[in-house]
Amino acid sequence: MSAADVIIIGGGPAGVAAAVELRRRGVAHVVLLEREPHLGGATRHCSHSPFGMREFGRVYFGAAYGRRLEAEAARAGVDIRTGHSVVRIEAGGRVELATPRGVETLTARRLLIATGAREAPRAARLVSGDRPVGVVTTGTLQAYVAFHELMPFRRPLIVGSELVSLSALLTCLTHGARPVAMIEPGPRTLAAAPLAWFPRLMGVPFHLGAELLDIHGARRVEDVTLRLRDGSTRNIACDGVLFTGRFTPESALLRQSALGVAVASSAPAIDPFGRTADPHIFAAGNLLRAVETAGWSFREGRAVGRAMAEDLARREGVAGDMVPVTFDPPIKLVVPGLVRRSTEQPAFNKFQLRFTREARGRLSLTLDGREVWAREKTWLPERRILIPIPPEACAAGAVHVGFEESA
Ligand SMILES: Cc1cc2nc3c(=O)[nH]c(=O)nc-3n(C[C@H](O)[C@H](O)[C@H](O)COP(=O)(O)OP(=O)(O)OC[C@H]3O[C@@H](n4cnc5c(N)ncnc54)[C@H](O)[C@@H]3O)c2cc1C
Repeated sequence: MSAADVIIIGGGPAGVAAAVELRRRGVAHVVLLEREPHLGGATRHCSHSPFGMREFGRVYFGAAYGRRLEAEAARAGVDIRTGHSVVRIEAGGRVELATPRGVETLTARRLLIATGAREAPRAARLVSGDRPVGVVTTGTLQAYVAFHELMPFRRPLIVGSELVSLSALLTCLTHGARPVAMIEPGPRTLAAAPLAWFPRLMGVPFHLGAELLDIHGARRVEDVTLRLRDGSTRNIACDGVLFTGRFTPESALLRQSALGVAVASSAPAIDPFGRTADPHIFAAGNLLRAVETAGWSFREGRAVGRAMAEDLARREGVAGDMVPVTFDPPIKLVVPGLVRRSTEQPAFNKFQLRFTREARGRLSLTLDGREVWAREKTWLPERRILIPIPPEACAAGAVHVGFEESA
């Protein structure tokens, strides 16, 4: 059994940025564990731009951005171990992993979990009907195209209207497929412009308020049944179904550990330093809050890497009790979800929020019963909402994000 200063699980933008920052700050042995054959995470199979503008000062396509991440980690002297899948984490920074040589155990003074997020597959969406070939998520489609030059359909139906749905549409159009339609169950697109007009501009019919009821096909997908906004049903011929978005944190390791995850978001709670309830274990990136951009995840990883380096350099342990950040529905999650007293510079200076549905009303932040921030407007689901974290929040005994819906 070998020991390291820090073990990072996940070689996407968040994990790589944290690893490079730890090395830059003099942390000697940083092990980066990645189950895939290369670093880069979800960006590796994105055949489109833009990636990297803020972190590297130039625009990359996804695959090239992934290669840049790998080169940065190697240059920084990170101990990169690809083809290594972590299967268990234990209190205090011990991990069990499946490696090309068999099962191994590693320990470290600190552990960072940066395992990202994944789209909801068909099973999680409870769509009934047959089980033919040709039903995939955007990530799977892009991996087929990028790594195997395989396009699983020519006329798919695209389900969803997040930013990743635009990525799905672009992948289809640039690889010889022409979607028969895009549908969004909600009353409006989840992504901001240009998704609202892009499908129609490309000649792809776009139905809001439409739900996929059934998939039909003996071997391949042959058609689907939709319920449209006016309540009528319609069958549309197609040869595939492309489920996009509805990301959920890749938190299986945490769910099996003593730390657990929040029920509503499947994400771990962290404090403003990126630290979980176990002071040896940190988390960063899309695992925290599916889903943000690669650049955002990178900056978050770098900030948590800095906080970890400072934590390692400190002599005394983490002081003070943890206080959970409570919130009202229909808020889905608040990151950080814990506060803890500390004299260090936090990695997060804003609370990040998501709403489960569109709601108009007054959003507020209260510390020990005293309101310190409030705003009233219409809040949209799956959009980034930020509230500055006042320095006194880390010393508060009660932190609440409230919501009063307008009548
Ligand atoms: C289809 C698609 C299109 C996108 N398009 C864009 C875009 O155009 N622009 C943009 O900015 N962002 C885009 N994104 C989002 C961007 O890819 C993510 O924001 C970013 O990759 C998140 O970084 P991360 O490090 O948090 O997680 P990830 O990139 O998901 O990396 C997590 C890593 O952890 C590894 N891992 C997971 N579990 C284990 C384990 N048990 N053991 C070892 N390794 C493990 C995974 O293999 C993965 O490599 C897109 C995402 C998708 C899925």
